[in-house]
Amino acid sequence: MSEVGSEQQPLRVAIIGSGPAGFYTVSNFLKHKDIHVEMDMYERLPTPFGLVRAGVAPDHQKYKTVTRAYNKSADNPAFRFFGNVAYGEHFKLADLQQYYHQIIFCSGASSDRNLDVPGEDLTGSHSATDFVAWYNGHPDCVDFKFDLGQESAAIIGLGNVAVDVARILCKTNDELKNTDMADYAIAALADSNIKNVYILGRRGPAQAAFTPPEIKEMGELEDTDVSISLDEATVDAASLEEMEAKGDKNTAKNVKIIRTLAETQPQGKGKQLNIRFLVSPTEIIGDENGNVTGIKVVKNEAYKDEDGSVRARATAETETIPVGLVFRSVGYRGVPLPEIPFNAAWGTIFNDAGRITNSDGAVQPGLYTAGWIKRGPTGVIGTNKTDAQETVNNMVEDLKAGKFNQPDEPAKEAAEAFIQSRQADLISYQDWAKIDASEVEKGLAADRPRVKYTDVKSMLDLLER
Ligand code: NAP
Repeated sequence: MSEVGSEQQPLRVAIIGSGPAGFYTVSNFLKHKDIHVEMDMYERLPTPFGLVRAGVAPDHQKYKTVTRAYNKSADNPAFRFFGNVAYGEHFKLADLQQYYHQIIFCSGASSDRNLDVPGEDLTGSHSATDFVAWYNGHPDCVDFKFDLGQESAAIIGLGNVAVDVARILCKTNDELKNTDMADYAIAALADSNIKNVYILGRRGPAQAAFTPPEIKEMGELEDTDVSISLDEATVDAASLEEMEAKGDKNTAKNVKIIRTLAETQPQGKGKQLNIRFLVSPTEIIGDENGNVTGIKVVKNEAYKDEDGSVRARATAETETIPVGLVFRSVGYRGVPLPEIPFNAAWGTIFNDAGRITNSDGAVQPGLYTAGWIKRGPTGVIGTNKTDAQETVNNMVEDLKAGKFNQPDEPAKEAAEAFIQSRQADLISYQDWAKIDASEVEKGLAADRPRVKYTDVKSMLDLLER
């Protein structure tokens, strides 16, 4: 009998999720020229690319050019795309084990972390990730409501998502109208009344998680002055010591840019972006109708922890910032998948370098993971390339060691017939190419990268389903 991975008996791999980790799984596998592999990618939405489509800022198109490489992988005959089918809804783990030798979960981190302060559930208090998905036209989020009639909004956290949200709230219609942001979001933001935006960081400039180009851009907005107090822009002694010890170039750049922004005189622009350091929210305050009216913060001081890192601790000083909108932007969070061992404390699948394990560390043969659901929501898009490479190398090692699942029906036609029987409105990559071409064509007419379809029905209508 021929070996699995040979031309006669290709290795059959199911990939769950079509974001960067899923596509880097494909490209990494394709580098192993000695292995005959057939990969089927399953995606809950009709559209691929995960956060590249629904998370990356619409005014940062350059980050989306990675999809050219993903399309190249998808062109390979070893690849098939099954969109509009959900793991746990249309099929289960046992179904996949019927058709595949190896199954890899690349489902990302679709939820977000809570702040755990009183008032978090008030009307007007949102997760930044919901807002991001809304303005990017994620079909699950088109009906979300954000009261942009408010004058002031606060964003909690010093990461790139916080900066993205602040920038979108601060940009003018001229700065947004040529993006691929959902049409309804462009219209809502054009009518926005927001004049004051606060970014609230619990630690100092030297611990900011955003990257230098992102913070630098805030000083270049058409109608927004940036306000940072010189006092809060000044790096404390413990942080200076940490910066010297680590020698991280990005931190040094951030600190310099923040200083420059603090020293820049306001130019009387229409909006003000206030970046605050060393403040932690302690309560979101609301009126008798349950609407957000402000955020109470405590001033922090930096101190060096026993492990050498600089942390923040509360002082006795508090203040209340009047805002009608609050966005918590303190990190994404993975959600459990049915029948897959989940580390609830970390929001990740239990794994050892991509091999899925039980909570006791025992490896589950044939099951793998890559991307944010493997390691947590950190790093940039490219970080998923090396992350997927680690997992794929282990998949190849296990294949060669004969450690994989033995499917009853390894023929690729069998898997397709099965999934078709569960979802008649299956979307292939050719279908997606039609949706893509239509979006781009509509975009051309409006001088935009694309005009997105934001609901599944309109995509199926286009495909005449
Ligand atoms: P992030 O980079 O992990 O930042 C989370 C921020 O929340 C940190 O400043 C953190 O502060 C703060 N935080 C956590 N818990 C808090 C609490 N209880 N109270 C106050 N602040 C709290 O997460 P993210 O911004 O969601 O981004 C996720 C990933 O996507 C990151 O790797 C990011 O770089 C990436 N991303 C990149 C881009 C880009 O390249 N342009 C754009 C968007 C996202 P501490 O440091 O004190 O914990």
